[in-house]
Amino acid sequence: MADFDRGYFVGAFRRMAATAEEHRDEWTKLDGDIGDGDHGINMSIGFREVVKQLDALPDDTDVAGLFKLVGMTLLRKVGGASGPLYGSFFMKAGAEVAGQSEVSFDDLRRMLRAGVDSIQQRGKAELGDKTMLDSYLPGLDVLEAADAADPQAALTAFVDRMRQGSDDTIPLVAKKGRAMRLGERSVGHRDPGSQSSWMLMNCLLDELKG
Ligand code: ADP
Ligand code: MG
Ligand code: MG
Repeated sequence: MADFDRGYFVGAFRRMAATAEEHRDEWTKLDGDIGDGDHGINMSIGFREVVKQLDALPDDTDVAGLFKLVGMTLLRKVGGASGPLYGSFFMKAGAEVAGQSEVSFDDLRRMLRAGVDSIQQRGKAELGDKTMLDSYLPGLDVLEAADAADPQAALTAFVDRMRQGSDDTIPLVAKKGRAMRLGERSVGHRDPGSQSSWMLMNCLLDELKG
């Protein structure tokens, strides 16, 4: 079974930073439609700082330490609602594997579940509220049901389901976050956080593919 070591996750976080840069204007445009138009900007500011941290990563940083660093950086640098949510996602995910230098695929699934649980605890959103949870929650269910013998297939199914979950936010009325203020007028627009979420998680898959 493939092991996910520090090098794998550093590579995945660098891909996430490149993704945040590449899709900054797209995410900002989505947030402009139903929020305050800063989601891409927020994420790009946060991940630029993540790259700086990765460039200076101490040799003794293990996987849990890496996730803690990334989470704290996002918490510190990304403003708004998404900063604390993404920040605690990565911090809680890392805490699941404290003391381990490599993690198994089952560990990775536990990490992601813990991260999503913390988004839910902090944000108090439910499935169908038109938030990033609408991509994470169905995606996680698919990931957990997938065959652990083939992590690449499992991560592919995870990301595909997350993307579908993001598509499924389009007809929803927002019940959380800034978009909530629009009520019915939020219908017909994709939730920006659901889009950034699946695109960031896609980096775990791309790094595995190499
Ligand atoms: P802000 O709304 O403060 O400007 P961002 O624009 O960076 O922050 O992020 C907005 C995204 O955050 C939304 O698209 C949504 O996916 C997510 N979000 C907002 N509130 C919540 C919540 N309570 N639970 C889960 N996700 C949320
Ligand atoms: Mg915003
Ligand atoms: Mg904002």
